[in-house]
Amino acid sequence: MERRLLALHAHPDDESSKGAATVARYVADGVRAVLVTATGGEAGDILNPALEGKISQSDLPGVRQAELAAAAAIIGFEDVELLGYRDSGMPGSEDNARAEALCNQDFDEVLGRVVEIVRGFRPQVVLGYDNHEWYPHPDHLFVHRITVELATAAADPSRYPDAGQPWQVSRVFAPAFTADRFVALHEAMLEKVGESPFDWVLERIEAAEPNAEARRIMRIDAAGYVEQGRDALRAHRTQIDPDGRWFAVPTSLVEEVYPWEDFEIIDEFVPTTEASGDFFEGIV
Ligand SMILES: [Zn+2]
Repeated sequence: MERRLLALHAHPDDESSKGAATVARYVADGVRAVLVTATGGEAGDILNPALEGKISQSDLPGVRQAELAAAAAIIGFEDVELLGYRDSGMPGSEDNARAEALCNQDFDEVLGRVVEIVRGFRPQVVLGYDNHEWYPHPDHLFVHRITVELATAAADPSRYPDAGQPWQVSRVFAPAFTADRFVALHEAMLEKVGESPFDWVLERIEAAEPNAEARRIMRIDAAGYVEQGRDALRAHRTQIDPDGRWFAVPTSLVEEVYPWEDFEIIDEFVPTTEASGDFFEGIV
């Protein structure tokens, strides 16, 4: 069976900060992967001190598109589909009020466009977003709503009849930032380096923990692919400070202490268990 995976993300760089090592691992193992990115990330600030003042805000969309293409190639996505909506920014911002902002689009229309891509590529596995309680960016919440509806809509012949032959996705997952992961890395950093960059993350993760018990988390072994994921993230040169917190934990320590990426099981049409550790297990 040809295995296919579709990853749906809100902004350029999300594909590199959420599950990149896992996708790289699957691609290396022969899985075909396609990336769908909903917005151009126009509301992003330039977060790399080395590039501040060197790129104008009006050039940013083109720069971010080039960064995205480079990152996607590093991860191994064979194709990048840009939905072309505008980054919604945070509530109350000027970006948030713009008509082209993703958050101001008709939900069913956006869903229909993603359904068409799913019916064309026919992935068994879709990666989307969880409810993002800990980072309620409007575009991430929009992608979460799409994630929850997508498999059912793509399989239903009565919905979007002009968007191709119905296709039943087998499983939908969402990259998850779990307390387990951050606690493991936090403690390893305190022990081996003497300081940890994760105090702020722990507070936010723990604030979102009330539903942790209800979440079904599958750990995927990404050992050997952590650095490749980081290379993809570094390709987003305007968005990522190469000396910043994303890279504060040495790759060798991540590989030693927590070489997994965590994914919440969002939807399953071929049953699975958290313990299987493989998106495609049992899909024929
Ligand atoms: Zn994002």
